[in-house]
Parts: sequence; C-alpha cells; structure tokens
Amino acid sequence: MFQHNITFLQQRIKKACLAAARSPDSVMLLAVSKTQSADRMQQVYDLGLQQFGENYASEAQEKLPLLPKEIVWHFIGPLQSNKTRFIAENFAWLQSLDRLKIAKRLNEQRPEHLPALQCLIQVNISEDDNKSGIKASELAAFAQELEQFSRLQLRGLMAIPATNQSEQALQNDFSRMQQLFVELQKNYPQVDTLSMGMSADLGLAIAHGATMVRIGTDLFGARQ
Ligand SMILES: *Cc1c(COP(=O)(O)O)cnc(C)c1O
Repeated sequence: MFQHNITFLQQRIKKACLAAARSPDSVMLLAVSKTQSADRMQQVYDLGLQQFGENYASEAQEKLPLLPKEIVWHFIGPLQSNKTRFIAENFAWLQSLDRLKIAKRLNEQRPEHLPALQCLIQVNISEDDNKSGIKASELAAFAQELEQFSRLQLRGLMAIPATNQSEQALQNDFSRMQQLFVELQKNYPQVDTLSMGMSADLGLAIAHGATMVRIGTDLFGARQ
C-alpha cells in the first residue's frame, strides 16, 4: 500500500512540476508521520523516503529511538519552550519558527557537534487567529533578528493556509507566499526552501513555487 501511495504521489508531483515548467526533482516530498507508529514509518523509510515531519515533541521522543539514525527529522508543529532542547539535539530542521524566544533557546541548546539547525519561518498567511506563524508584514524584521543566532540557519518559509477557503483564496495565499519567498531570497542567498502544499493541495502549491510538500494522509492513509 505504501509503495502504491509513494508512486502515486511522485507522479502527482512530477505532473505538477511539468505543468509549471519546473524540474521534477525541484520538489521534495516530506513524510508527515504524526500519529503513525514507528513500524509504519520504518516501512515508508524502507521504500526510500528519508525525511520525516513530526508535530509533537513528546510523540517524537518515543519514536525516534526506534527508527534509523539516517532519518532527517523536521519539526513542523507548534513548539513550547520546555521542548526546545529535544528538538535542538535531535532534529535537523524546524519549520515552525515564529517566536524569538524559541529561536534564542534553540540557538543556545544546539550541540556544537551538529550543523546549525535549519529553520523555516512560519507565516500565518491567511491571518487566521487560530493558526501559528508571524504576519507577512513582520517577516523582514523577524528574519533580521534571526541573524544574531549563529547556530540557526534560515533556509526559507513555511505556511499552512486556512482550510475551508475558496480555491481562489487559497491560490492568493500561495501566490503571496511565493512573493515573500522571492523577496527573502534577495536578502538571504542561502534561502532555498518554500514549504507549502499538503495532501489536498500539493499541485496548486507546486504551481506557486513550493520546493517541499508535506504529506500525511495521502501517504500513510487517514490518521487515527
Ligand atoms: C498534518 C500536517 C500535514 C499533512 O497534512 P495531510 O493533509 O495529512 O497531508 C502537513 N503539514 C503540517 C504542518 C501538518 O500538521
């Protein structure tokens, strides 16, 4: 089943890339594994996926020791200050950075023997009160503040648009993210990652420049 899902996702990604005149390997597939058992994750890993996204530190804490050391871990959920050390010590990427206080702690806690923590700033693109992320208008100032943290490397942006909005509104959100991403790249040459698009909207996200799509449901099946 997982093999079938992976092949189908790769075809969808490829099709969306070709339609946007982009190279099919310009988009990475991140396996979003929240609520999935270590055993199911191992099966997906054995089929060739190496990058996994987790939303909850405590859940990741239980599963990490059971899985291959080669996995590249991305933290994609809201991060509380009392969980920063675990992320700093075990994850390669943090995609949900939106608070200076968290950045400061991660910078202090990132072990010397590891490369800098690769960070994406989460933008609350739909300006939804229930969603994390900074406002688009605060992005430039926030990025500038991050420059003081040598153990964090800014790699780009992440967004989770509001659900239940029209196709047109969703398209506007993705398009706005693409603009913000291009602007950010002008000031930060190392910025190369635009993380947006999930199971339902990966094609539209790729049409608007996504370089990483985060897929849970269409890879693992419905969550419990
Ligand atoms: C759960 C989750 C996903 C995956 O969503 P699906 O619709 O199941 O593909 C992607 N990104 C984030 C931040 C998530 O929390």
